[in-house]
Amino acid sequence: MTLREYHQKRNFKATPEPDGEEEVQLADEPMFVVQKHKASHLHYDFRLEVDGVLKSWAIPKGPTLDTNAKRLAVKVEDHPLSYGHFEGTIPEGNYGAGEVIVWDTGTYRSAEFEDDEFDAKENQKKIRAGLRSGQLKFTLNGKKLKGNFALVKLKNVETGKSWILIKEGDEYAQKMDISKDSTSAISDRVLEG
Ligand code: MN
Repeated sequence: MTLREYHQKRNFKATPEPDGEEEVQLADEPMFVVQKHKASHLHYDFRLEVDGVLKSWAIPKGPTLDTNAKRLAVKVEDHPLSYGHFEGTIPEGNYGAGEVIVWDTGTYRSAEFEDDEFDAKENQKKIRAGLRSGQLKFTLNGKKLKGNFALVKLKNVETGKSWILIKEGDEYAQKMDISKDSTSAISDRVLEG
């Protein structure tokens, strides 16, 4: 149901993107993925596994480890879990035409757990509640992105699709703009900005 918009926008005879039919093994901790996407405008697609799909936001400037930066994250349609491994070129004339790499990936969890009390079901509940309330605090365990982050929904924007991604202060925070890193986290692909 939630993938209807994803399917409506794409012709799977013409794009190499996954149709979402393939089974994906669920792990204890949900996955996150950031895809660098050189479409008509370069952007980064930030995706969090929630209830069997990838909740997705387009971040024009990309995620950051700088606690002083607030990055606009525009909510887009849910993607299938299998999209989390997709790299390749969406051909001209298709929705989102251009090159895609997996810029970072790993697992994430609600930031409301101490290390010794993690519970997979509780985690899903906290994540759902955070997304509903428009304030989700979570911890990323990726190759490039690590530590605590917050996604906060902007209440006074009419579309209801504007969120802000913020890096919270911790030992992984740094001033350097890591979105300049143009390498794939899962292959030897490179996608320059
Ligand atoms: Mn995109």
